[in-house]
Amino acid sequence: MAKIAFIGLGNMGGPMAANLVKAGHDVTVFDLSDAAVKALEADGASSAGTARAAAGGAECVITMLPAGQHVESVYLGEGGLLAHLPEGTLVIDSSTIAPETARGVAEAARARNIPFLDAPVSGGVGGAKAGILTFICGGGEDTFNKAKPILEGMGKNIFHAGDHGSGQVAKICNNMMLAILMAGTSEALALGVKNGLDPAVLSEIMKQSSGGNWALNVYNPWPGVMDGVPASRDYQGGFLVNLMNKDLGLAFDNAVKNHAPIPMGALARNLFELHAGQGNGELDFSSIQRFYCPEDK
Ligand code: NAD
Repeated sequence: MAKIAFIGLGNMGGPMAANLVKAGHDVTVFDLSDAAVKALEADGASSAGTARAAAGGAECVITMLPAGQHVESVYLGEGGLLAHLPEGTLVIDSSTIAPETARGVAEAARARNIPFLDAPVSGGVGGAKAGILTFICGGGEDTFNKAKPILEGMGKNIFHAGDHGSGQVAKICNNMMLAILMAGTSEALALGVKNGLDPAVLSEIMKQSSGGNWALNVYNPWPGVMDGVPASRDYQGGFLVNLMNKDLGLAFDNAVKNHAPIPMGALARNLFELHAGQGNGELDFSSIQRFYCPEDK
């Protein structure tokens, strides 16, 4: 079992760190939010007052932060962790960030002989709680093999997508598709309901038909159709619209750089931006359902 520092205990990082404790690791946590730290202490983790203190003596550091600027602020610069970690400390960043940001952190780590892996995840808060996340890793083969037993404490499918940044590329492709599927699912449900159909009945029909997809099958956006999903608790918790917009922005920027046409992704980005601009940024992304049915708010 490893001595692990876990930094970033939000909707995803909290349950991920708790699963590492359950798996028998010695976990020290840090977050800017005291409440998040207290919750992990109750789950059996130790805590520290700074990221650097949490990482003291750790064999492995894992971060789960909102966006690229947070990852850079934790790792880079004179006060950043990479300047202070001993050589050989395994560093895993599971945040969803731009591939080039991940490559920049990897380069800074390489300069200090610190193995780094970008390892963004898929599976949502439900997957994080159940310990069945998909990890999509970018980095050297040796680093991947070293990280895999630790990632298995939090996930079920652990993929090696390629070199540094590849995990992030695969992740932003996946999330662009997820945004398109969630918007499409919401649109179809709203059309059926406007025609008098029961959303639960329509959902079951589409699940067993060619329209079945992850958003419909396990994350139904219509309130009350499925237990335990954000739609059934007023779109609280889950994966925030603001974070989905961040990921759609990453996909858009990447598409421009690579001359890759993404008309569906661009439309989804516009829809979610409009939705955020209407005051929904802090709701789960399945709240895009409300965009189609504002009268049902
Ligand atoms: P979140 O906003 O719930 O949690 C982020 C946490 O990071 C917060 O607790 C915040 O206090 C902490 N934090 C921010 N800056 C910090 C710093 N400098 N030091 C220490 N802690 C700091 O976000 P989340 O939903 O847990 O998502 C985290 C990452 O995972 C994002 O990149 C997101 O895109 C990705 N992701 C989220 C989901 C999901 O369903 N929520 C799914 C897959 C991937």
